[in-house]
Amino acid sequence: MGKKASPETMGFQTEVRQLLHLMIHSLYSNKEIFLRELISNASDAVDRLRFEALANPDLLTGDADLSIRVVLDKEAKTIAVTDNGIGMSREDLIENLGTIAKSGTADFLQQMTGDDKKDAQLIGQFGVGFYSSFIVADKVVVETRRADLEAKDAVRWESDGQGEFTVEPIERVERGTTVTLHLKETEAEFSELLRLETLIRKYSDHIAFPVLLEGGAEDDKEPRTVNSATALWMRSRSEVDDDEYKEFYKYLSHDFVDPITWSHNRVEGKREYTSLLYIPANAPFDLWNREVPRGLKLYVQRVFIMDDAEQFLPLYLRFVKGIVDSSDLPLNVSRELLQNNPQSAAMKTAITRRVLDMLARLSTADSKEDREIYQKFWKEFGQVIKEGLVEDSQNADKLMKLLRFTTTRSDGDLQDQSLADYLGRAIPKQDKIYYLLADTYATAKSSPHLEQLAKNGIEVLLLADRIDPWMVDHLADFEGKSFQDVGRGQLSLPEGDGTITQETMNEEHKPLLKKIQKKLKDRITAVNVSQRLIDSPACVVTADQDLTPQLRRMLEASGQKLPDSKPNFEINVEHPLVQRLSAERDDERFGQLANILLDHALLAEGAQLENPAAYVQRMNSLLLDMGTQEVKK
Ligand code: ADP
Repeated sequence: MGKKASPETMGFQTEVRQLLHLMIHSLYSNKEIFLRELISNASDAVDRLRFEALANPDLLTGDADLSIRVVLDKEAKTIAVTDNGIGMSREDLIENLGTIAKSGTADFLQQMTGDDKKDAQLIGQFGVGFYSSFIVADKVVVETRRADLEAKDAVRWESDGQGEFTVEPIERVERGTTVTLHLKETEAEFSELLRLETLIRKYSDHIAFPVLLEGGAEDDKEPRTVNSATALWMRSRSEVDDDEYKEFYKYLSHDFVDPITWSHNRVEGKREYTSLLYIPANAPFDLWNREVPRGLKLYVQRVFIMDDAEQFLPLYLRFVKGIVDSSDLPLNVSRELLQNNPQSAAMKTAITRRVLDMLARLSTADSKEDREIYQKFWKEFGQVIKEGLVEDSQNADKLMKLLRFTTTRSDGDLQDQSLADYLGRAIPKQDKIYYLLADTYATAKSSPHLEQLAKNGIEVLLLADRIDPWMVDHLADFEGKSFQDVGRGQLSLPEGDGTITQETMNEEHKPLLKKIQKKLKDRITAVNVSQRLIDSPACVVTADQDLTPQLRRMLEASGQKLPDSKPNFEINVEHPLVQRLSAERDDERFGQLANILLDHALLAEGAQLENPAAYVQRMNSLLLDMGTQEVKK
């Protein structure tokens, strides 16, 4: 006892080191965001204290006025941000300010290019935080005491942001946290009181707690409140300007890029709540990790209850940020309670609709600018919206209007055509929306399945996203038109005169079909005369009851065992190669040719041959034959 513990030195987690390096170099032009991040953390800490005090009012004893204080010391060139919130224990401190808990961070950091501009974009997907202090400070000191610990259990953390930090026990009477930044020589601008005041007002006006500012000099030592200290979402829409909404988003999300749109609503009546929902501009780096925390910040009567309340949004809207403040949920509401609560279920339905309406407004906007914004949204989040069709059939109508596609009329692979655009170009009597699934746009574009359709002037949606094979199973009718997979079953064309059916064609070519069927019986289910081919000799078609080959390949790649299925084979009887086959009298050669036709049909569709070596042998023997025929001539 009595021996003063000396500071213990620890290393930052590798990812923190990388992040720090990156942040300092790529966010330099946004450097003042450190202040927003510190105030945001302080406000969260105060929110948390108030929440814990619901169950344990003693926590507030002696200091019930929750606030955030910013002190500028011009002489010492320091800025200190103090909150009387929840504080941190030694373990919290090491955990929170020494590591990055988000999984996938290492992979994310791998993508950094070293190009500051690009990396600044990338880091926007990550969300900056406390570590942004090191953009302007060459030393940061954190002194903190957790509200439920004693003064002697307080801790001090210190680092120059280079790779290590120290931790040591201290005495601290007041609960909460003080973060002190020792400004770099080059950052003198932040030691101007007026500049600081402007920034703090910008970053904290929407926070529900007073933010006080005081200068270090004798004449400006009097602390003054610089924000209006009312929660932004409680103000009426007409009182909040766009910049304030944007700032609030950044405070919520730790993003430093503006959101693309938002929706702020108060619901009154049977249920009373306010929601403020934002659509970010960029997808977060972990959008595809369905396990990461997501959801809204939940308040009950202005009191913060929890982050990431996922019960108010379906999984496919996991990119939405925002808050919901309920007037009638109980203050002691827990995640479990929300799970099975008819009220939160009803709120989820309404909030989901709000988000979809907000997107609908954006997607149907007339101005070129808004159209571009929607296009950008679609690029970032289109694939998750497609998940919505699988997850949320209730909103299928709204979701289908949001979809954007590449089609046979598109130049590149940009997905920018809506179903309404598509139907606007439908040919007379076209009662179907045609689509083709493929593994890539390149395969889709050159697919033999499109030939007859192209000749008839029928546009086809080209679907090559991973989610597409799942999505198409959930596409109901759109404006009375059903969807047809052009690679499956019989192809029905709008203007077909109905006289030449596949059956009559099959009858006409029966001997040839029988011979092919015999040779290929192990590889195909049936062979038919094709009505979809013009330039290609043959193609494979998925039978009505079978999985699409794209879905099958994906499921197999993920290790699933599926029952065998054989495709239907279609031949183009007009094609010289098929006529050549038909004329072949040598039985063995006929078999080889038929197999090669099938091999090529599978390859064109993006499939892998089950027995590539056998294919190569067949091909070689055919080439040799050709050679000997040449010689004989
Ligand atoms: P984020 O705020 O996005 O979680 P930060 O790096 O800013 O990331 O902070 C990491 C964690 O450190 C926070 O989640 C919080 O638990 C803790 N923390 C930061 N500042 C404070 C503070 N002023 N009071 C209490 N805890 C804090």
